[in-house]
This record gives sequence, structure tokens and C-alpha cells, in this order.
Amino acid sequence: MQGSSSISLSSVDAPTPRCHCGVRPPIRTSWKCDYPGRRFYGCSGYRTSKKCSFFQWYNPEPPARYSDVIRRLLETNEGIRSENTELKKTRQELLDELRSLQQSLHETRADLEAAISASTAMEDNMLASVATTRRRGVLITVLISAIILLVFYRS
Ligand SMILES: [Zn+2]
Repeated sequence: MQGSSSISLSSVDAPTPRCHCGVRPPIRTSWKCDYPGRRFYGCSGYRTSKKCSFFQWYNPEPPARYSDVIRRLLETNEGIRSENTELKKTRQELLDELRSLQQSLHETRADLEAAISASTAMEDNMLASVATTRRRGVLITVLISAIILLVFYRS
């Protein structure tokens, strides 16, 4: 950690330091330090390798207010994330419901079509039956007329 005198110094312009193992360490971002989002030089093996534990802050220590702002932003971000998760869940539920409604609509339409086709068949039967009855009526009328004529001419 740098002393308070380095606050005004910008490490950004400083040359990249060499780490103990001789390579130029990459710049990383720490989210778990007192100043979340603060960047530092850390050896590529800083977590695993015990040979090199090089560590140097990249940014000078920021003012205290900075960490408050960052922390609040992180909290907001967390809130947005969980809200997003909730929204995704709701979206999935709505999609499921929509799919179920579409299925139900499809079934209702199939039922309706079956009912219409049954009703059409019934109507056809009724019409055929009416036609048959009418033909029989005509035949009976003709027969009765013929009988009356026969009886009338004989007498
Ligand atoms: Zn190293």
C-alpha cells in the first residue's frame, strides 16, 4: 500500500514495474479491497504461485467518498441483477402461460371444427330425410288420385 503522500501522484504515467519473477505483471481490478474497482499490478501467478507474490497498486489511493460511491454502485448493480433474474423468471412464466393458452386455443378450435362438421352432417341428413318424405308424399298423392279416378270412371 502506498503512503498518503502518493495520493496526488498518478501511477498511470509511471513505467510498468517488473515483478519478482522478471515479467511485466498485468493490471488487475480488485473488488474486494477497501476501494472496490481499484486496479493493481499482480503477477500472473499471484494466486497460485508461491514463488512470486508481487503486488503494487496501479491507481493511487482514492478519496474515501470514491469507495462509498463505488460501493453504492455495486449495491445498485446487485439490485439490478436480481431484478433482472426476477424479470427473466416472470418472462419464462408468461411464455409458459402463452404456450398453454395457445395449446388450449388450438384444442378449442379443433373441438369447434368437429362440432361444425357434425352439425353440417346432421343438416344434410335432415335435408335428405325431408326430400325423401316429400317424394313419398307426392307418390301417395299420385296413388290416391289414380284410385279416385279409377273409382270415378268405373261408376
Ligand atoms: Zn511474478
